Amino acid sequence: MPPLRGNLHAHTTYSDGVERPARLVAAYEALGYDFLAITDHEDRIGASYWRALPRLASRLLLFHGVELNYDRFDQHIGRVLGDRETLHVLNHPARYRLSIEETIERARVIERDGLRLDAVEVSDTGHHRPQYASDEIPLVKLATDDAHRPVHVGRAWIEVDAPRDRDAIIRAIRAGDFGVRFGAAAE
Ligand SMILES: [Zn+2]
Repeated sequence: MPPLRGNLHAHTTYSDGVERPARLVAAYEALGYDFLAITDHEDRIGASYWRALPRLASRLLLFHGVELNYDRFDQHIGRVLGDRETLHVLNHPARYRLSIEETIERARVIERDGLRLDAVEVSDTGHHRPQYASDEIPLVKLATDDAHRPVHVGRAWIEVDAPRDRDAIIRAIRAGDFGVRFGAAAE
């Protein structure tokens, strides 16, 4: 079974992305992706977001999601919803110029507040930030393109060894059964 290619962090016109959801989905379909999570910003979406996502038709396996703003400090957290499983990601520590120690401390504070983190991004809007692949950070290392504009689409993705099922993909990510990949424009 070939691995499944996907991106678990992307934005649409429901928050600060420039593409409508259908156009965004089509862009990933054209690149041959298997799955995609739409994760618009929690503080910019309305109730129509959660009603609209299930109506999106695609040959991709779509995950519904949201990007949370952690309220104690400036930190985005990705929430990707499976059918029963939920994945939580400490997003782009590079954007906040966090050291490894600061990243570990943030993860600790967030978990102490009751949110169990699964992964940390080793990417920032698809650019590779390999310093966060450090074994010292006790989280799975994920790459996403965090697409806000078409130029971001396809910069970074993951390839997961899992059946084509949302919960199976989330469980495989937690288990580390995937690889991170970067396109030519990602350095
Ligand atoms: Zn984002």
